[in-house]
Amino acid sequence: MANMGYMKLIFLGPPGSGKGTLAARVVDILKVPHISTGAIFRAAIATKSFLGLRVKAIIDAGHLVSDRITIEMVKERLAQADARQGYILDGFPRTIPQAEALDGFSTVDKAVDLDLSDALVLERLSGRRICRKCGFTYHATFNPPKKADICDTCGGEIYTRDDDREKAIQERLEVYREQTAPLIDYYRKKGLLVEVDARPTVDLVVENFRKALGL
Ligand code: AMP
Repeated sequence: MANMGYMKLIFLGPPGSGKGTLAARVVDILKVPHISTGAIFRAAIATKSFLGLRVKAIIDAGHLVSDRITIEMVKERLAQADARQGYILDGFPRTIPQAEALDGFSTVDKAVDLDLSDALVLERLSGRRICRKCGFTYHATFNPPKKADICDTCGGEIYTRDDDREKAIQERLEVYREQTAPLIDYYRKKGLLVEVDARPTVDLVVENFRKALGL
């Protein structure tokens, strides 16, 4: 296996395309932290911090948190020691201004686009369940936990995200197509884009990802 050194990766792709699942599977290979802006926001909401209280209603409705708040948060996170050499950014950037800001404080090695149709996004998100404690993702039909509502990995409680309800899902898809999908071209023009078909099983997506990155 080629040693790529530490990589700075961005995961693009619609909600439900498997960014978080893929990231969780490859952090050990890449030895870089998995930084999910959505997970940071959810943790802030759970502890009812100032940030959490500010963003809860926006996130539950399926809208994007403002670029200003999000960029500041990511900039601080990337300045921490564990992220200096490499990272997987899952869910950031989500807008062109976020991508431009990122270019100002970090150099991206590759942008991985997990491609999935709207129909499959709907199918996946409407059955998605996540662990409140460790964030591991399940699907009610395709990948249920062994014991109902209990995480196989950490024993935490499994729940449905407020923004995985029908109305918010539609809104998030629209926001994705309008504001985030243009990032595919943004990174293609820079020669950094890697496209991975998000339809197959998790194992196959991991395999294709590794091949595409030469790992
Ligand atoms: P995710 O877990 O990536 O699906 O993110 C959940 C929600 O957090 C999104 O629907 C947004 O409301 C918010 N969020 C996450 N990342 C960003 C971002 N880069 N910019 C703005 N809002 C974000």
